[in-house]
Amino acid sequence: TRLLAEVDPEIARAIQDETRRQEEGLELIASENFVSPAVLEAAGSVLTNKYAEGYPGKRYYGGCEVVDVAESLAISRARELFGAEYANVQAHSGSQANMGAYMALMKPGDTLLALDLNSGGHLTHGSAFNFSGKLYKAVHYGLTQDTETIDYAQAAALAKEHKPRVVVVGASAYPRIIDFAKFREIADSVGAALMVDMAHIAGLVAAGLHPSPVPLADIVTSTTHKTLRGPRGGLVLSKEPYGKALNSQIFPGIQGGPLMHVIAAKAVAFREALSPEFKAYQKQIVANAQALAEALRKGGLRLCSGGTDNHLMLVDLRPKKLVGKVAEEVLGKAGITVNKNMIPFDPEKPTVTSGVRIGTPALTTRGMKEAEMATVGALVVEALDNASDEQRLASIRGRIQEFTRSYPLYASRLK
Ligand code: PLP
Repeated sequence: TRLLAEVDPEIARAIQDETRRQEEGLELIASENFVSPAVLEAAGSVLTNKYAEGYPGKRYYGGCEVVDVAESLAISRARELFGAEYANVQAHSGSQANMGAYMALMKPGDTLLALDLNSGGHLTHGSAFNFSGKLYKAVHYGLTQDTETIDYAQAAALAKEHKPRVVVVGASAYPRIIDFAKFREIADSVGAALMVDMAHIAGLVAAGLHPSPVPLADIVTSTTHKTLRGPRGGLVLSKEPYGKALNSQIFPGIQGGPLMHVIAAKAVAFREALSPEFKAYQKQIVANAQALAEALRKGGLRLCSGGTDNHLMLVDLRPKKLVGKVAEEVLGKAGITVNKNMIPFDPEKPTVTSGVRIGTPALTTRGMKEAEMATVGALVVEALDNASDEQRLASIRGRIQEFTRSYPLYASRLK
């Protein structure tokens, strides 16, 4: 019963410091969010103690009757939320959800077709640095130069040429609606399976604000911690015929015991996502992205593809004569967290980049609306316009600390 602060003061301090950092800063990383206290409670529960290899009702360990309840609720809620025939909630992460899906659809050496990493795709979509690019032959489509949106014609041509086993759709840095129906056609034209990784947009899909890939794709993967606002983890959905193969690819294929505390937290997040408040929250995320994009444009920045349809935007920093690496540091000093990101046809290296990726899910969770986005956008522009003025950046940081006090998050946890 000894408290963390007594057992391990260093880690207790780190958690306090991180709580304060989240509380006092402006979180604009598009893939991050703030879970509810209910989700946090489930994730920090005694369910972490339980081994439960297998699936509800078919475990390799005794004493699973209680965690079976939690996992069954997570599965049924995920299916309800997305209208899916089958759900696996055990994937420890989005990367493992993708690995499980690939193993259900392909053999090593098979070909996959996906969006290029530098065009907004994810590492697990066939990057040479990742298992997906080492185990499979990856072919990549990109964006069109003029619109900076997905080049569907190129994807179709590459499919014809390379006859992939799987067409992968989804992105980590793509601000526009994705046409899943078009990709279904492309996959069908060459007899490929269609896998959609909706990690970034899962919350928007759940709320009906982005077309759903679930009726069209053979397998849909996701993370649960981005717009969906659940604990860090993965999720796989599919039509029934793939269910059995997927279950056995996740366990025992690539994982051992599931993280039952995280699965319980996923169940809580899915329940929250089924509420009318969640739909309103997702609408506000999109409205806030529009407002923030407008504020940044007004401040002299260029938005790749001309704007955004979803929760994120790619900002071209070249009008300010800055690179992403510097902008990320400068904004960090001002108390604003973003990540550097390649822009379409970026002349800079991935470690430098010409852009930053900015998203609104986290600030929207704090209760901020369009008016606050105008303020946030102006603060971003002020920081970038005064990139080498340390005093000015410190002054912005102070103003942000004051500003964020009106949008408390986990303040009651601060000691
Ligand atoms: N897929 C997409 C599209 C992502 O953006 C991410 C996360 O960045 C992942 C998969 C991987 O998720 P995780 O970081 O949980 O492995």
